[in-house]
Amino acid sequence: MGQHSEHSETSATSMTSRRSFLRYAALAAAAPVLTEAHFARAAQQATAATAPRRRASWVTAPPDAILINANENPLGPCDAARQAIAKIVPTGGRYDLYDETGKLTKTFASQHNLPEDHIAVYAGSSEPLHFTVLAFTSPTRSLVIADPSYEAPTFAAMSSGAKIHKVPLTANYAHDVKAMVAADPNAGVLYICNPNNPTGTITSKQNILWALENKPKGSVLLVDEAYIHFADVPDLIDQVVAGKDLIILRTFSKIYGMAGLRCGFALGRPDLLQKLSPYGQNPMPVTGSGAANVSLLDASLVATRKKIMTENRNETLSWLKQNNYKVIGDPVSNCFMIDTGRDGRGVMDAMRQKNIYIGRTWPVWPNAVRITVGTPEEMAKFRTAFKQVMDAPPGPEPAPSQTAMVDGVRPPKYTSPNA
Ligand code: PLP
Repeated sequence: MGQHSEHSETSATSMTSRRSFLRYAALAAAAPVLTEAHFARAAQQATAATAPRRRASWVTAPPDAILINANENPLGPCDAARQAIAKIVPTGGRYDLYDETGKLTKTFASQHNLPEDHIAVYAGSSEPLHFTVLAFTSPTRSLVIADPSYEAPTFAAMSSGAKIHKVPLTANYAHDVKAMVAADPNAGVLYICNPNNPTGTITSKQNILWALENKPKGSVLLVDEAYIHFADVPDLIDQVVAGKDLIILRTFSKIYGMAGLRCGFALGRPDLLQKLSPYGQNPMPVTGSGAANVSLLDASLVATRKKIMTENRNETLSWLKQNNYKVIGDPVSNCFMIDTGRDGRGVMDAMRQKNIYIGRTWPVWPNAVRITVGTPEEMAKFRTAFKQVMDAPPGPEPAPSQTAMVDGVRPPKYTSPNA
């Protein structure tokens, strides 16, 4: 009898979980989890009628290409991370035999005075970003996002059938928190990327706190701190500790140079993080967790890399300004935008012909291109090629049909805050 009831309970549970799995699978099918790599490659595809292709929407760069189009870090993982990976590889036949993910969680928790149950580890921050939007938006709870900002949340909102409110940045290219909060009383998620991708500009903590206190009831603030280490700005972790309706995203893809190794965090109250878990949480690759853990333990890594990136960025920003090119705002991250005064996709295409892959345009600013900060040598090549491209007359405008499709998905529609 005991066995029977246990059996029925198990079947009932598995039926329920199968049903919810199918429901989530159906939802997730609308738009896959998309990463910077997808957006960067789709943009090359949209401007390159003749570029070599690997998959329908992927453009493969030649091995000697300068890649300053996907906000990656040319320095790669730090030495300690490389050594840790070599040591961990022989254990790779097991699922995290030595609990690398648990060690990583403990390290981050102790460094930030954050309870361990407020940290969820993922293979990069793209998944928790996507899942937060799926969990907290719906046909009746919208997404509010700055324009321009990182595109991934808008694609996720397609899957939940949510309305998307795009709110222009302020005159100094910060998030307009007042307009974002006012955009929709039924918002489900307000997304703030600080520093912002693509502009590299910051929004003050004071203004983010204002959004946190004044956002619509029942909504969550999703603060994406992918680039926070490049800028001298305070993070929002104290607000997670204080139990606010807030999820912070962190990634090891940027300052830590681990985009291909995959590791990231969602930080939030356990009940908020719990809402993400039905969408899946793969076991972490042991290499990703192990490398991330030792990267956190390297006390000089962030400061050293921030200094290098700041110098590399500022050298090119000064050159651009001296040569009367228009840099947008006051960027403090590993990327910045230039208003080229002509169709940005044509500039991308002309740069690619010189083997330099620069970042994409955003629909709101079709003349502006995003540049990722590379090494001094890469930036020197960028400057030479950029001047040549800008000195030449613009090429033919790319065909209007060449809208960037990202892995077969068209960019979602959105409603203006005044609609
Ligand atoms: N958030 C922002 C703002 C990004 O720019 C990126 C990648 O470029 C991500 C999240 C996701 O990165 P990953 O999945 O590599 O952690």
